[in-house]
Amino acid sequence: MNKAWILAAVLATAVGIGLAQGQRTGGAPQGAQSEGALGQRPGADRQPELPIPNIREYKPRTTLVVPQHPVPRAKFPVIDIHSHQPTPISAAQFDTIATAMDALNLRVLVNASGASGDRLRQGLDAIRNSRHKDRMVYFAQINFRNVGPGFGQRAAQQLEADVKAGALGLGELMKDFGLRATKADGTRLEMDDPELDPIWTTAARLNIPVLIHTADPQEFFQPINYTNERWLELALYPERRFPPSQFPSFDALMGERDRLFKKHPKTTFIAAPRGWHAHDLGRLGRMFDEMPNVYGEVGAVLYDLGRQPRTAHDFFVKYQDRILFGKDSYQPDEYPYYWRTFETADEYFDYYRDYHAFWKLYGLGLPDPVLRKLYYQNALRLVPGIPKAGFPN
Ligand SMILES: [Zn+2]
Repeated sequence: MNKAWILAAVLATAVGIGLAQGQRTGGAPQGAQSEGALGQRPGADRQPELPIPNIREYKPRTTLVVPQHPVPRAKFPVIDIHSHQPTPISAAQFDTIATAMDALNLRVLVNASGASGDRLRQGLDAIRNSRHKDRMVYFAQINFRNVGPGFGQRAAQQLEADVKAGALGLGELMKDFGLRATKADGTRLEMDDPELDPIWTTAARLNIPVLIHTADPQEFFQPINYTNERWLELALYPERRFPPSQFPSFDALMGERDRLFKKHPKTTFIAAPRGWHAHDLGRLGRMFDEMPNVYGEVGAVLYDLGRQPRTAHDFFVKYQDRILFGKDSYQPDEYPYYWRTFETADEYFDYYRDYHAFWKLYGLGLPDPVLRKLYYQNALRLVPGIPKAGFPN
């Protein structure tokens, strides 16, 4: 099914390009790719004499010489509000993680992998009995399966028990909530389904935040063609494709999510990967303006922030009380790219994953007060149960 969809998309693009070229006189300068070119130049129809490299082969070495300031260790201690760790974690695993955390100046990880009931208690016990008991905390989880009458009440009661046991928040509610989770009658569970209301009102009453990941990058919902910024990733990972024949559109899911956020203004929601609007910070800003109960974390969208350093800088300054640090995938060697992007004004430096972004990053050069809020102060405010040890006053 996916193959047919891709083929149709590629054909549609080919037709589209053909039409666009036909509209211009004599074809696009230097081929269809040079969108910014100004009209015809001599030699515009030239073809390369050498074999054209594929997308993974062309890796030009930059000749740019500018100051470099790698940042292996964050300037202030950091709370990662969105991490994924084993449950329960073994003493040896935790020793390894704590050593890496110390080198990075990562102070606390929020384990958002999802645990509830006995499993949550096992996870919490493993941390309490470890040598690093103030370095990891838990959020509780809800499994949205076969949602029918009474589900919301039962889930809310379980959430309350989990918080009593020591969970400090709810989530990560994964993207399946919205994309794939179904009700008992087989229909898709809409995120703002009234059956779930007791969960959100209970979170508000218990004063715990809800970490929620809705949908995926916008391009995952678009045809896979050579104008799609995530072509390589979509070509590599079939499960990341959300064709319209099988899934709601990106905007339909965002609309559903926003209705949920607005319906429960007393519930604090942390939208994972910036609600996937890091490529359109104006949209995210309007969302923050309209919904004072919504916060954003920065995991997995560094490539979007680092290609708009001035816009992102101004956004972080304006919304400095609404942003949290979260990395999602726990890879110790990737954190320094975040520190460098947030803390320095470096130019044109490498990003770590070619299928996220084929471009370079630029530093935002955030001021210290904003860095402190991003790294730990906002998290301590939203999640008061996080151990305060190790943070400056
Ligand atoms: Zn996650």
